Parts: sequence; structure tokens; C-alpha cells
Amino acid sequence: MQELRQFQLSAQSYRYGKDVSLDPTCLFCKIIEGHIPADIVFRNENVVAFNDIAPQAPTHILIIPTLHVSNGADLAKASPTITAELFKVAEQLSNERGLGGYRTVFNTGAEAGQSVFHAHMHLLGGRALAWPPG
Ligand code: 5GP
Ligand code: ZN
Repeated sequence: MQELRQFQLSAQSYRYGKDVSLDPTCLFCKIIEGHIPADIVFRNENVVAFNDIAPQAPTHILIIPTLHVSNGADLAKASPTITAELFKVAEQLSNERGLGGYRTVFNTGAEAGQSVFHAHMHLLGGRALAWPPG
């Protein structure tokens, strides 16, 4: 139950320090804490979702865990539960917006285009999406 111990705290109760799960130098942790503004579209104790600042589709939302881990694989190791929650939130947001389909993406590593090293799922939709991606 170590996995759930910290995550059952409310996001607002997190504090920087040795036994907590946010990183004061991380852009997305600052968004979780409300220190940097974002257009937040969903929030619970484990997950925050907000519109991407440079949208690549009519719907482009970043869905992130309220703990600091570097990428999706590290999140899966830390919490399969929260990893699954990201997908459930993506489905919920898609349904709310009546999307005909959507794409979820985790960029992992700089070569794959990752620029923020706090795990985040991109939710893209609202237009036809080409394949293969660039
Ligand atoms: P990555 O390239 O790491 O997969 O995705 C990072 C995403 O974060 C990019 O799509 C970028 O537009 C978005 N982003 C970077 N800085 C900010 C910010 O300050 N606010 C918001 N809402 N999105 C950001
Ligand atoms: Zn972070």
C-alpha cells in the first residue's frame, strides 16, 4: 500500500521535501501547486489535466499524475493505478467533448520529442490525425 499512501493525500496537501512527491524545479509540479497558471479542465487527488499551451489539434490536453515521475514508464512502475486513471480521464474528457476518436501519446526521451520530464499523456482530437506521426 506504499503506492497509495502519498497519493491519497489531496494535491493541495503536498509539500516539497524529502517525503513528498513533487519537484520544486519542475514546470508541471508548479502547475499542480498553482504556482504557474494553467487552463485546468480536470482535477482530482491523483490526476490534473490542462490545455496544452501550444495546441496541435482542437483538443490538446495534457493529463498528468500529481506525483513527480519523469515519464510514463516510471509512472507505471510507481503506480499502475494512476497510470490507468490517466486513460480513464482521457476517455471521460473525450466523451465530454463528443470527439469521434482521439490519440493518447507519451513522448519518452528527448529523441522522441519529450521536453518536460514530468510524466504526461497528450490527449489529441477534434480533427483527423495522420499516421505515421512525424
Ligand atoms: P512533450 O514535448 O514533453 O511531450 O510535451 C510537453 C508539452 O507541454 C508540449 O506540448 C508543450 O506545448 C506543453 N507546455 C510546455 N510548457 C507549458 C506551459 O507552461 N503550460 C502549458 N499548458 N503547456 C506547456
Ligand atoms: Zn513534476
